[in-house]
Amino acid sequence: MFVTRFAPSPTGPLHLGHAYSAILAHDMARAAGGRFLLRMEDTDLERSKPEYDELIQSDLAWLGLAWDGPIHRQSQHIAAYNARLEPLVATGLLYPCSCTRSDIRAALVAPQEGVAFNVYPGTCRGRPMASRLPGDALRLDLAAALRALAADLGFTETGPTHAGRHRIDPDQAQRQIGDVVLSRKGEDIVAYFLASAFDDADQGVTHVIRGEDLFDFTPVQVILQHLLGLPTPIYHHHHLIRDDQGKRLAKRDDARALSKYRAEGATPADIRRMVGLPDR
Ligand code: GLU
Repeated sequence: MFVTRFAPSPTGPLHLGHAYSAILAHDMARAAGGRFLLRMEDTDLERSKPEYDELIQSDLAWLGLAWDGPIHRQSQHIAAYNARLEPLVATGLLYPCSCTRSDIRAALVAPQEGVAFNVYPGTCRGRPMASRLPGDALRLDLAAALRALAADLGFTETGPTHAGRHRIDPDQAQRQIGDVVLSRKGEDIVAYFLASAFDDADQGVTHVIRGEDLFDFTPVQVILQHLLGLPTPIYHHHHLIRDDQGKRLAKRDDARALSKYRAEGATPADIRRMVGLPDR
C-alpha cells in the first residue's frame, strides 16, 4: 500500500510552496489508492505555535485535502525518540559534545536551500560516552558509522530532477554532512531528521514526497535508517515554487500565505492553477 505524508513545521502560515507539496502528496496517494498522513514537525518548541497548527489544518481542509488517521505531533514523542537512540550509544558510534547551544540549535533545524549545511569540525570527537555531562548533545561519528555499514548504501528517487538510484558516497557524506547532532538529552531536543526517520518508519511511509531543498539531506536519513534498523522509503523530491525573482518561498513570505489568497477570494482551483497542478 502506498503511504505518504505531508509534514509541515507549524512555525508559520502555509504558502503556495506548501500547498504544492501537500496537493501533490495527496493526489499521488489517492491515485495509488493509498494513504495520505498529516504530521506536525513541531520539535522546535520555541517557534512552533498552536495557532499555526490550526491554520495548517484549516488551509488543508479548504484545499479539499483530507488526511487519513489522527495527526501525529512530534513534540509529544521527543522523550521516546531520545530513548530509541540509546541502543546506538552502546555501538560506540555516538559521542557527547559540549559545543554551544547556538551551534547545536543551528545544526538541528531543517536545512534551507542555499544555506550550506554546517559541517562540524569534530572538536569533541573521540570523547568517551562515560564523559557525557548533563546537557551534552549526542553526535554521530559519521566516518565510523559509514565504516560499520554496508558499502552500497543508497536510496531510490522518483522526483523530476534526480530520478534514479543514488548511492551514498562516504567521502561526499563526510564533506557535506559531517558529524550531525542527534539529540540533547534533558532538554527535549531531537534533530528533525532523526524524528522524521523514526516517524516515516513507524507510520509505514512508503513514499516521502517533499521539496528539492531537502534532497541533500536524504543521505543522513538513509544512514540513520540503516543504523537503527529502519526501512528506507522511496523519495520523491519535487521542484520548488519560486517567487518572481526565482527565490524559493519561505515561511516569512507572508504575502504568499494561503490564508491571504483565501481572504482575497481565491478558490482551491485557483491555487492548483497557480502552482501548475491540473484541476481535479
Ligand atoms: N518539516 C519539514 C519542513 O517543513 C519537512 C520535512 C519532510 O518532509 O521530510 O520543511
